[in-house]
Amino acid sequence: MTIRFDEMELQAPILRAVSDIGFEEMTPIQAQVFPVVMEGKDIIGQAQTGTGKTAAYSLPILEQIDPKNKHLQAVVLCPTRELAIQVADEMHKFSKYMHGIKILPVYGGQDIVRQIKALKAGTQIMIGTPGRVMDHMRRKTIKFDFVNKVILDEADEMLNMGFREDIETILKEIPEERQTLLFSATMPQTILDIAKTYQKNAVKIKVAAKELTVPKIEQYYYEVKSQNKFEVLLRLIDLYQPKLSLIFCNTKQKVDELASELQGRGYFAEALHGDLKQQQRDRVMKSFRTGRADILVATDVAARGIDVDDVEAVFNYDLPQDYEYYVHRIGRTGRAGRTGRAFSMVVGRDIFRIKDIQRYCKTKILVQPVPSINDVVAVKAEKILDKVEKLIDEGDLKKMIQIIEQKVNEEDYTSLEIAAALLKMSFGEENGYSSEEIRKSTQQDFGDTGAEAGMVRLFINLGKNQRIRPGDILGAIAGETNMPGKLIGSIDMYDKYTFVEVPSEYAAQVVEVMKHAKIKGKSINIEPANKSR
Ligand code: ADP
Ligand code: MG
Repeated sequence: MTIRFDEMELQAPILRAVSDIGFEEMTPIQAQVFPVVMEGKDIIGQAQTGTGKTAAYSLPILEQIDPKNKHLQAVVLCPTRELAIQVADEMHKFSKYMHGIKILPVYGGQDIVRQIKALKAGTQIMIGTPGRVMDHMRRKTIKFDFVNKVILDEADEMLNMGFREDIETILKEIPEERQTLLFSATMPQTILDIAKTYQKNAVKIKVAAKELTVPKIEQYYYEVKSQNKFEVLLRLIDLYQPKLSLIFCNTKQKVDELASELQGRGYFAEALHGDLKQQQRDRVMKSFRTGRADILVATDVAARGIDVDDVEAVFNYDLPQDYEYYVHRIGRTGRAGRTGRAFSMVVGRDIFRIKDIQRYCKTKILVQPVPSINDVVAVKAEKILDKVEKLIDEGDLKKMIQIIEQKVNEEDYTSLEIAAALLKMSFGEENGYSSEEIRKSTQQDFGDTGAEAGMVRLFINLGKNQRIRPGDILGAIAGETNMPGKLIGSIDMYDKYTFVEVPSEYAAQVVEVMKHAKIKGKSINIEPANKSR
C-alpha cells in the first residue's frame, strides 16, 4: 500500500514544493513517521541509508513550525558537515513556498561569527554537528527555550565519531517538553540507552532491509587472489566505465593507498576518510560531485549518508566488516531511479562472508568470472571506434587518406594493418598503457644492474649538459608509464647520462615505453645499466 503526499495533512506550500521536487508517494519510513510526529510522540526509527529519512522528519517539522515565532524551535543533529548541509538544502527546498522560515546549518570550519549573526537574526531550525552546536552553547549564542523538537539523524554514526557526550549534554539542555526523534541504521545498546534516558514512550519504527534493497542494483562478486585485486578493479572500471564510482575500503590507510595507486594509473580518483580536514573533505566532495574526479575511494564512516546522484558503480574493494554496511554501501548507487551496479571483491575465506551477506541482507549477489583483458580491450576499442566513426562522418579526411594510400602503395602493409596499429596506439593514449597486459608480457630478468634489491637500475643517455633535472626524468616516467612516480628510486645525474632506479616489476614497461618517449623534447636511449657502470 502506498500513500501519496497529498493524502497527508500538509499545508499547500509544502505540498507544492514536494511536487516540484518530484516526489509522489511516501517511502515506507515517511508514511510511518509523519503521523506519529504530528501526534507529538517520540520516535526511535531504524532505517538504512536511502530510505528517505530526511523528508520523513523535515516535513512534519516544517508543518508544525511557527513562522511568527522567531526563536529556535527545532534542532537536528547530524554526524558530519556534509550531511548537515545536505539536510539544510533539502529543508530549504521543502520550505521554498513558505514565508518567514529560517533554516541554518552550523558546522565546524565555518566562520562562527557569521553563524552567530544568523542565529540572532531569527533562525527557527538549526541543523548542526554536535561539536559545533556545543560550541554555540558554551558561547551562549543559542537559546533552547522554544525548542520543541530534537532530531538525532544517523545516531549510530554520531556515536562512532565520539559525539556521545556532546549529544547527551545537548539533550540535557533542551526543555523536557519536547519531541525527540532518533534515527539510526543500527541499534546497538548505547543507542537504546540514550533512547531510554532521553525519550518518552518512543514509538518504534523499523524499515526492514528487505524493503530497502533496490532491485535496480545489479550485484556481482568476483573471486580473486589478493595480489590481483587491483588489476581486477581496473578491468571492471575499464569495462563498465561508470560515470561516477565509489570504492570502499575498510581502513583509512587502504583508502589513501588505493586512491594514489589509481592516480598513478591515470585515473581521476580522490580519497575520503575521517582524517581529512573539513576543508579537504569539501574539496574532495566538490570534485566528485562535479565529476572532475570520477572515482571516490572512501571508508564507510566518511561516505555514510552522502547523497550523490550519478554514482553508477559501487565497489567493495574490501568486504564490509559489518554486514549492514553492505546495504549502506550499495545504496549509494542506483539513486533516483537510475540503474546501478555493485561489485564485491572476494578473497579466500571472504566467500563464506558473501554468502552470509546474501542471507542477512536478503539479496542476491551473483558470481561472475573476472573479465578478461580481451573484454576490456573490446570495450575500449568500441569507444575509440565510436570517435572514429564520428570523424569519418564529419569527412575532411582527404589528406589523411592520401598519406595512408601512399604508405600502402610503397610498403608491404595493408590498410587493415595500419588501422589496427593506429587503434592499438590510441589505447595507450586513452588510459596509459593497459596495465597488466604490457607488464606481464614484457616482464623479464635484467640480471644484476647494481640496483637496490627489488629494483632495476636504468641508464638514460641524457644528463646535466642537456639541462635536464631529476624532476624531468621523474615526470616523464610517471607521465608516460602507469607506474606511480613515488615508486621511482634514486636518480643519479651526471653530465652526459643519468641512472634511475625503478621497481623490477615495472622495469620492462618503463624501458619499452620510454624508448619512444621524449624528455624535454629530446629523444632518449634507455636501457638496463651494466653493474660496472
Ligand atoms: P536517508 O536519509 O534515509 O539516507 P534521504 O533522505 O537522503 O535518505 O533520501 C534518499 C534519496 O531518496 C534522496 O535522493 C531523496 O531525494 C530521495 N527521496 C526521498 N523521499 C522520496 C520520495 N518520497 N520519493 C522519491 N524520492 C525520494
Ligand atoms: Mg539521511
